[in-house]
Amino acid sequence: MTSGNETKDLDQKFEVISINDSNEEDNSLEPVVPHERQIVDDVIAIWKTDPETEELSAGKLHGIVKKRHPNWSVSEKRVKTLLKKFGLLNTDQQITYANDITSEETPDIDLPANLRIIMSAKRGKGLYAKKPIKKGELLWEEPQLFFVPPLENAELIKLGKACSYCAQSNKVAGASVLRGLDCNVCPEIWCSQKCKKIDNQLHGLLKHNVYNPHASRKNKAINSEAYLDLQNYCIKEQWNALFALAIIYANIVTDKTGVKGKQFRAMARVSQAVRYKALNSSAGAFDSLQGGALFVQEQQESLWQEGYKKFLAVFPQAYEEELTPWLYMLLET
Ligand SMILES: [Zn+2]
Ligand SMILES: [Zn+2]
Repeated sequence: MTSGNETKDLDQKFEVISINDSNEEDNSLEPVVPHERQIVDDVIAIWKTDPETEELSAGKLHGIVKKRHPNWSVSEKRVKTLLKKFGLLNTDQQITYANDITSEETPDIDLPANLRIIMSAKRGKGLYAKKPIKKGELLWEEPQLFFVPPLENAELIKLGKACSYCAQSNKVAGASVLRGLDCNVCPEIWCSQKCKKIDNQLHGLLKHNVYNPHASRKNKAINSEAYLDLQNYCIKEQWNALFALAIIYANIVTDKTGVKGKQFRAMARVSQAVRYKALNSSAGAFDSLQGGALFVQEQQESLWQEGYKKFLAVFPQAYEEELTPWLYMLLET
């Protein structure tokens, strides 16, 4: 809990600066009743200035708001009601699954000098500026951790009509063969040397794992026949999540540095069972969705079993116990 002294310290961190049209209001001692939007905006501004204040109660936030705007006529109760109305109040009574979402500090991350990551119990993982950022300033640039092509382009990719990595179809026209952008084993092609370089190795492992002739299929990390089977199944069922998970997992098992796996595991996640529970227990707007959610849950069960089997077959080296949590993610997407 925050003690009275700490709150006082926090108060001192805030300085009221007059800008343009706010002069009139600030100079006036006449009490004004602020519009609800002004109050909510002010609380958000307080949170932005110091993320630690996100943990404060409505009462303490009211104190800071009053200090920033001495002439505002607003009660603690009104601040609390408004925060509740706009879904900004941290209470356990709210029917959400925010507390069930797990997220960990991302390991091995190259953060730019201007930013830092702050983990907070109530709001999870967030990026905050270390110092004021100029308009137009580049904050962060990094290659994607994983790239999953859109499932609807998978057929085009198979036919060599879209890039095997980035799935763009408009860039592959013309003589890819002459430019050395075709695969020498299968009909697939890439749009650029860049895409080919990134994707070449994994492409071979997933689509035609013909190398490693001495080893039996059991000794390969990826069974390409099983992968092609899974890919066709995903196309047939329009199952984006299974397709994405297979590609992500394949990236992780072939990443010798181990960083991709560590970073993926640190991402925010929540089980679909918890999401259904929240959906079913919430009133009002979600009422009409309840029956639908339960129906989907039953229907998914058999689909899930089949997807699960196909996924296991793609990665013969992985232990089933290791893959099971992965397969549960199918219900999380
Ligand atoms: Zn490409
Ligand atoms: Zn190929």
